[in-house]
Amino acid sequence: MADTFDYVVVGAGSGGCAVASRLSEDPNVSVVLLEAGGRDDNWVVTTPGALILMVSGPVNNWAFNTVPQPGLNGRIGYQPRGKGLGGSSAINAMCYIRGHKADYDRWAALGNTGWSYADVLPHFKRSEDNSELDGFYHGKGGPLSVTKLQTDNPVQDIYLQAAREAQFRINEDFNGEEQEGLGVYQVTQKNGERWSAARGYIHPFMGTRKNLHVITGAHATRILFEGKRATGIEYRQGKDTRQVRARREVILGLGAFQTPQLLMLSGVGDQAELARHGIAPVHHLPGVGKNLHDHPDFVFGFRSGNPNFLGLTAAGIGRIVKSIFQYRRERRGAMTSNIAECGGFLKTRPDLELPDIQLHFCMAVVNNHGRTPFFGNGFSCHVCLLRQKAAAASGCKAPIRCSRRRSIRTSSATRMISKRWSVPSRPPSACSMRPP
Ligand SMILES: Cc1cc2nc3c(=O)[nH]c(=O)nc-3n(C[C@H](O)[C@H](O)[C@H](O)COP(=O)(O)OP(=O)(O)OC[C@H]3O[C@@H](n4cnc5c(N)ncnc54)[C@H](O)[C@@H]3O)c2cc1C
Repeated sequence: MADTFDYVVVGAGSGGCAVASRLSEDPNVSVVLLEAGGRDDNWVVTTPGALILMVSGPVNNWAFNTVPQPGLNGRIGYQPRGKGLGGSSAINAMCYIRGHKADYDRWAALGNTGWSYADVLPHFKRSEDNSELDGFYHGKGGPLSVTKLQTDNPVQDIYLQAAREAQFRINEDFNGEEQEGLGVYQVTQKNGERWSAARGYIHPFMGTRKNLHVITGAHATRILFEGKRATGIEYRQGKDTRQVRARREVILGLGAFQTPQLLMLSGVGDQAELARHGIAPVHHLPGVGKNLHDHPDFVFGFRSGNPNFLGLTAAGIGRIVKSIFQYRRERRGAMTSNIAECGGFLKTRPDLELPDIQLHFCMAVVNNHGRTPFFGNGFSCHVCLLRQKAAAASGCKAPIRCSRRRSIRTSSATRMISKRWSVPSRPPSACSMRPP
């Protein structure tokens, strides 16, 4: 294989897969996609319910830890991130959420030309193959399959009923005219299987597009520069160190932590910070690796005897085994669950312009990303702060530091829905819930 290509794309996650696939639609350009992980095309990735096997540990997951967080009493946070073709889209919870229109418009207002919602909407529509929704906000026939859940779980209707009774707006399309409200998430799945970015954008063309080269097990260690122009990538594959060169562009899609990390390892970043690690500067760019905004997330967990929730009990394990057989036969049932089936976006104060919390209502007690086993049947609700002001930094060794502590408001909606299902209920602390 030639080691010079028109485009070198690094990181085959949600972004990298889409970019490499779109660029290689033109047969006249050559594209190489480098990915540190593997192919990620086995049942652990394709079976939605198996996400719990990946999110909690090192399977297809970098499973990062933060440095001790001063704002969280020294606690070390766990940061799962996908590794392999598809990146985080191969391990994530599959909820199809684009973000609020106003966020894109704010980015555009800050000077980022081309990022307003009106600018990005055509791209969202072009990417999408939505089996239910259509019209102004949605697309059909794109590579990314979006659909409703195939779980047939009656809890969804009960959740909606509870939300109606508490007078919350029911939202059937969180990516439509209005984001606010509660509802059931659409998911990136097809026929009951996870539809990662790799399945949509890369797998169909591996071996069929001669101009698309995918190299897995390739860990990028350095951007190669000629002066200030990026001309290639050095990467490790097994024990070998190799290089690829780009005639036109090097495109970084290593995710929110590792993109700045690779830039800094290559000499692009704050000169003083680079000097502390003995890295010769190529370009002094102080913002690199700074201003990371993560979302604090608080979890309410409750025990429940309702058999539609998943859990580690004798009966619960029996139901899981049955659902594995159902999944193999029909691609329906509990194994197609993304666990966080319901939820939505709410304002914690009526005077707010935009929703500031997101709920993920989970069909199991998901505690500490599933890393703390919970013996029993039940459900949980994640309450995630969307517009936090604290910022963090990711450095050369990928530590993450919070600069300020923020309190987390919770909504009456969460408490209401939790109460409805508590049989018997326990306060979150009784289930030893911790923010992730
Ligand atoms: C557990 C979890 C649940 C989530 N749930 C949802 C959800 O339900 N809905 C939603 O919309 N979003 C969800 N997200 C977020 C969403 O998946 C991510 O925002 C998105 O996938 C990020 O895309 P990306 O291309 O920026 O990075 P990623 O998809 O993370 O891709 C980065 C890629 O770069 C590779 N890479 C990194 N370093 C190197 C290197 N040095 N050399 C070569 N390759 C490298 C990685 O292995 C990875 O494949 C979730 C994320 C996680 C982790």
